[in-house]
Amino acid sequence: MEIPSVHHQDIRFKNLLITIKREDLIHPFISGNKYRKLTYNIDEAKRINATSLLTFGGAFSNHIAAVAYAGNMYGFKTVGVIRGEELALKSPLNPTLQFAKTCGMHLEFVSRAHYRQKNDDDFIDGLKSRFGNFYLLPEGGTNDLAVKGCEDILQATDNVYDYICCAVGTGGTISGLINASESHQKILGFPALKGDFLQQDIRKFANQDNWELITAYHFGGYGKIKPELIAFINQFKKAYHIPLDPIYTGKMLFGIFDLIDQGFFQKESKILAIHTGGLQGITGINQILKRKNQPLIEL
Ligand SMILES: *Cc1c(COP(=O)(O)O)cnc(C)c1O
Repeated sequence: MEIPSVHHQDIRFKNLLITIKREDLIHPFISGNKYRKLTYNIDEAKRINATSLLTFGGAFSNHIAAVAYAGNMYGFKTVGVIRGEELALKSPLNPTLQFAKTCGMHLEFVSRAHYRQKNDDDFIDGLKSRFGNFYLLPEGGTNDLAVKGCEDILQATDNVYDYICCAVGTGGTISGLINASESHQKILGFPALKGDFLQQDIRKFANQDNWELITAYHFGGYGKIKPELIAFINQFKKAYHIPLDPIYTGKMLFGIFDLIDQGFFQKESKILAIHTGGLQGITGINQILKRKNQPLIEL
């Protein structure tokens, strides 16, 4: 896959420069870090003459949508193992899963208990006996080649930034940023979920210690959304004309602005915030917010 060049957008706020790296604009359907994570994996799958890709994800997964589209574009069959067997009975499917299906992905719905075995050999062997041999992409797409792809996010000219911020799910993206950063830079990760395993997961891939996880902005856990987060996302879009998603980038930027208010960053600091994409999920999330009578994300 081609390595894209990415546009920067500067925001000035309280004597600080916040530059948004618009990875969300890389591609209309394989956005942000999911594009980076797939780049070398797709190349490798082609190189070994794989004919299908299999991966895992939840109902709103940006990774599932990206693999479905990329698979279709580069001539692979795709299988998505989806968490939650109850989803198979839902009609219509949510927009993410409907999109994946339209791209030709076979959706294999499994119970949460089964899904938890996604890294077990027996479970993978069972999938191989059903779907034939496949190129396996882990949940969230994180593996060595994905981390290598995320190293391409940083350019040599980005060494002017004191801080580099990103949202964290499985830790693949932050690991790539850490590896590509200079030691005078500090990488701040904003986990979108609760969990102590992340530190260890990042250490598996990262080769420097110039990073920190800021764990105060997960809003209750993965996919948990509060009205104040939605309000922030809508205000941010009005002020800067940059859309954010409520699972990852919204939480990160909420965190960055809150840290600025608390005086976390020294005066004149230069902050690079990576917009990792994820906007495809908004329509489906708005459907849920509407059902709960909560404020919606403005499109
Ligand atoms: C998947 C995703 C992340 C998390 O990336 P990891 O490499 O899993 O930490 C962050 N932002 C967006 C928009 C994503 O889709």
